[in-house]
Amino acid sequence: MRIDLHTHSTASDGTDTPAELVRNAAAAGLDVVALTDHDTTRGHAEAERALRELPGGPTLVTGAELSCSLDGMGVHMLAYLFDPEEPELARERELVRDDRTPRAKTMIGKLQDLGVPVTWEQVARIAGDGSVGRPHIAEALVGLGVVPTVSDAFTPEWLADGGRAFADKHELDPFDAIRLVKAAGGVAVLAHPGADKRGRTVAESAIAELTAVGLDGIEVDHMDHSPATRTRLRALAGELGLLTTGSSDYHGSRKTCVLGEFTTDPEIYGEITRRATGAFPVPGAGGSPAA
Ligand code: AMP
Ligand code: ZN
Ligand code: FE
Ligand code: FE
Repeated sequence: MRIDLHTHSTASDGTDTPAELVRNAAAAGLDVVALTDHDTTRGHAEAERALRELPGGPTLVTGAELSCSLDGMGVHMLAYLFDPEEPELARERELVRDDRTPRAKTMIGKLQDLGVPVTWEQVARIAGDGSVGRPHIAEALVGLGVVPTVSDAFTPEWLADGGRAFADKHELDPFDAIRLVKAAGGVAVLAHPGADKRGRTVAESAIAELTAVGLDGIEVDHMDHSPATRTRLRALAGELGLLTTGSSDYHGSRKTCVLGEFTTDPEIYGEITRRATGAFPVPGAGGSPAA
């Protein structure tokens, strides 16, 4: 069983449409794929439709990656199999999403002040109908020749947290996020807690506090974690009784990682599905295409 529990589509800042993502997951030999767009469930319906027309497609785990902030540090909370209609969590997703547009415009204004001729129209065209994020602005900067790659825009000079052109958006308190996800029948997994190249990382004491309010697990096998970080996080998860996941954090062509680059243990996936009460995985026909 190959299980990838963290991917993005054009509903946020990935480049595959939700339908393409499901088809690419099948082509990559995945048995289970979670669609976890930033702060939105909007891609789920299209992914489910595509799955119904795809013999041998993977099982789809519906989810989202919630933008949170802890002591001024950006923290991402993966939420799986919650009830998308649950009003409190839906309201929070909407607040974050709605703030992304004015926040992107603020960052574009800062870039213009720095002499970069980027416009909102350019970025809006790249984002399409997805919730707009820094990777879309980064792509505009690549197009203008300001930086060679999307990743190169995430530096203090440009768009990194606290960078010259960075602006805050509305974000959830991660303790609230966990309570809301659980109240909506979901499972909460802290995304890439040791991704140090993005800036500060979540302290072990904070992970312990999040565990005390119901955090289910932490993402351990992730492209932004060094082998030493993975070893440390796995040990911490053991101490705290947390589940450990692995995933690609696939963004289509906007990042270098490929679907299934890192995967989650089937037993841990089983435990996630047992804990969830808000939604069921949408079954595919598994990894073997029907004739
Ligand atoms: P936003 O949600 O608009 O603040 O943008 C955050 C997103 O930017 C993350 O989910 C990643 O997809 C992307 N990102 C953050 N740091 C980096 C980095 N160092 N290189 C490439 N992409 C990054
Ligand atoms: Zn992203
Ligand atoms: Fe993330
Ligand atoms: Fe992500």
